[in-house]
Amino acid sequence: MIAPDFQTAVEQLSELIEGARSVVPFTGAGISTECGIPDFRSPGGMWTKNAPIPFDQFMSSRHARAETWQRRFAMDEVLSNAKPGRGHRALASLHRAGKIPGVVTQNIDNLHQVSGIPHASVCELHGNTSYATCLDCGKHYTLKWVRDSFDQSGHAPECVECNGFIKTATVAFGQSMPVAAMAQAEQLTLSADVFMAIGSSLLVWPAAGFPLMAKRNGAALVILNREPTEFDNLADLVIHHDIGDVLTRFISQ
Ligand code: NAD
Ligand code: ZN
Repeated sequence: MIAPDFQTAVEQLSELIEGARSVVPFTGAGISTECGIPDFRSPGGMWTKNAPIPFDQFMSSRHARAETWQRRFAMDEVLSNAKPGRGHRALASLHRAGKIPGVVTQNIDNLHQVSGIPHASVCELHGNTSYATCLDCGKHYTLKWVRDSFDQSGHAPECVECNGFIKTATVAFGQSMPVAAMAQAEQLTLSADVFMAIGSSLLVWPAAGFPLMAKRNGAALVILNREPTEFDNLADLVIHHDIGDVLTRFISQ
């Protein structure tokens, strides 16, 4: 059901949250747009500028690896200066109040952790772009190390231990999903009596399967997104308003 107006939307969402034992948010790029990080699919979003580089290209082409890293460096100013927005702060408040056992996120920007939700309670389906790992041995690298090395050599660095390729700790299109995060997301989803999809176009799979799983398991499904999604007709409450404007009501100090 689409909430008829902003006030009704907030009232109905408050009622659902108050009556719930376990609220599980599922967040996408839309929760971070007010923090200055563009999403993919909104007008002016990243996809309108650059199509993503799939994993097989990263693995097979030195040029693609360099291009991937150059794009990441170009975003660094925005990513490293971004602060949690009203949506992140509201979810952190609800976590402190014991309503939210954990957050399932498609985001890679680390902002749920910065907002105060413990690392172990943030389930990152698509990884994290604030550091890098060797794809072969798993060694961690700071982005500063990668950048310094790139600046010196002019190409994407390889692992000092095993010569493997180094990539941000994110899941590229075509790369396999992280097994532990998928299992944790399933457990959280099945614990939810209210499941809130927030700022996701719900077009990226398998992540988009979690709202469906929650609904099938009997949870009330809330979709908070300024544009319609394919699952609006399945949801118990659909809110087509700005995420920060809606969730700011749930921020407590
Ligand atoms: P998406 O870009 O496909 O969809 C974002 C949705 O959020 C859009 O439908 C848009 O209408 C909505 N939205 C944007 N700002 C909003 C606001 N202020 N209020 C209400 N709605 C708003 O994003 P996605 O579904 O998360 O898929 C993109 C994938 O790309 C993700 O899986 C993620 O891995 C990655 N990504 C991450 C980030 C990040 O970490 N911040 C940013 C871009 C892309
Ligand atoms: Zn290595």
